[in-house]
Amino acid sequence: MDNVRVRFAPSPTGALHMGGVRTALYNYLFAKKYNGTFVLRIEDTDQTRYVANAEKYIIDALEWCGIPFDEGMGKNEKFAPYRQSERKHLYKQYADKLIESGWAYYAFDTAEELDFHRKEHEANKKTFVYNWHNRSKGKLVNSLVLSADEVEKRLNSGEKYVIRFKMPQDETLIMEDEIRGTIKIDTNTLDDKVLFKSDGMPTYHLANIVDDHLMQISHVIRGEEWLPSMPLHVMLYKAFGWDAPKFAHLPLILKPEGKGKLSKRDGDKLGFPVFPLKFTNEETGDVSRGYKEDGYFPEAFINLLALLGWNPGTEQEIFSLEELVNQFDLKRVSKSGAKFSPDKAKWFNQQWLQKKSVEELTNLFLPILTEKGISSDKNYVKKVVELVKERAVFVTDLWGLSSFFFENPTEYDAKNVKKVWKEDTSNLMQELVEVISNINDFTLEATQTIIKEWISSKEIGFGKVMQPLRLALVGKLAGPDLFEIMVMLGNETTIKRIENAINKNS
Ligand code: GLU
Repeated sequence: MDNVRVRFAPSPTGALHMGGVRTALYNYLFAKKYNGTFVLRIEDTDQTRYVANAEKYIIDALEWCGIPFDEGMGKNEKFAPYRQSERKHLYKQYADKLIESGWAYYAFDTAEELDFHRKEHEANKKTFVYNWHNRSKGKLVNSLVLSADEVEKRLNSGEKYVIRFKMPQDETLIMEDEIRGTIKIDTNTLDDKVLFKSDGMPTYHLANIVDDHLMQISHVIRGEEWLPSMPLHVMLYKAFGWDAPKFAHLPLILKPEGKGKLSKRDGDKLGFPVFPLKFTNEETGDVSRGYKEDGYFPEAFINLLALLGWNPGTEQEIFSLEELVNQFDLKRVSKSGAKFSPDKAKWFNQQWLQKKSVEELTNLFLPILTEKGISSDKNYVKKVVELVKERAVFVTDLWGLSSFFFENPTEYDAKNVKKVWKEDTSNLMQELVEVISNINDFTLEATQTIIKEWISSKEIGFGKVMQPLRLALVGKLAGPDLFEIMVMLGNETTIKRIENAINKNS
């Protein structure tokens, strides 16, 4: 495919929802797969919903995810500006063009009048729709019913007006969606959407189509919530006489229980983020958690998002960004919503953590140790990481999994003590101390052989020694291989910890 140009066109109304990030990701993957361009355009024509720090947030989020835009504010500005508020002088002429060609008309109905019609319809259990069936009947005040002079007069006197699209009557519109296939719609069910508002700003619909055309967008890949706008958009391209881009509407990301769109409230309730980065709403002071701050690797976040809606057609679940670029295919994006699972999200992070090198994880772990006031030799920390990383979901888990490598246990869980510290255990441990102090070569091999032989010679079960020993060294009945732990701690610390446990538990 040649000349692929896709865009991510968010409105800066707050933090970017993970559904929005997935839209950006699919656009990015599609662009990279076909050596195309990924454009970022900020759709800020609705000034009432504008949030000051949201634009920076969007850019930072794309950066963190590793899917930066190729073209947009400050980058390869071929079609600058990329903020719609800075392009506002541009749109009116296009609305005028549609008036000239008869595809649009001026409407002077005031908000009160429209409200009256709405209420009147409601009283008769009907819904008021501004379209073919009432636009010319005389009840509505627009340039389809007023004389040309009257319209001219109203415009010249500065009366407020909007420009509406004149949706054709009695047509069946046939549209193609890359994901959903052929969609047919009866134009009689559609309304005459406002294209240009009385405040001198275009609506989303007009600005979006004009910009996609001017910016030579080849594919519009966006969320399902925009599917109802597709007929109007396709009609607008027709009205302008422009070639329409191809459309692909992505499925929703659904709540963990499967019904309805995943919301911030679901995240708050079940304890997971729905935003890539932490976000502070400067107006309300409201703080929302982010995947980044919660300890997710961007690779894991991207990986889990990629599979929320796209089916690779194989068993493979772990994908690098490069693999995603190679394998992504719009045709394999599902039509139905994708259920989000917080547990699966964690699983992805665990998988990506395993893929990190010990060196990398150690470098991430060292500052956590420093913060805890622990200074330790880097090589020792590396060995610790190697032993415990398998169980870690997040880097911050490393401490909980390994603190006993750095600190002596100070207490033992009463339940565990009851379970493993029997009447003869203290004597047994005392004997073990003797055995250990006689091991000259405190290596894994030697320690293992000597202790195992000793246990066999006593003709007792392995667990009778190993369980209390684990409690003494780790403080709980968990952790990696005990002999590895002993060798890491060294015989002196091992003995000290066994003696401590004897003192506390006898
Ligand atoms: N500004 C719209 C949004 O906030 C963009 C929709 C589209 O991609 O056409 O999602």
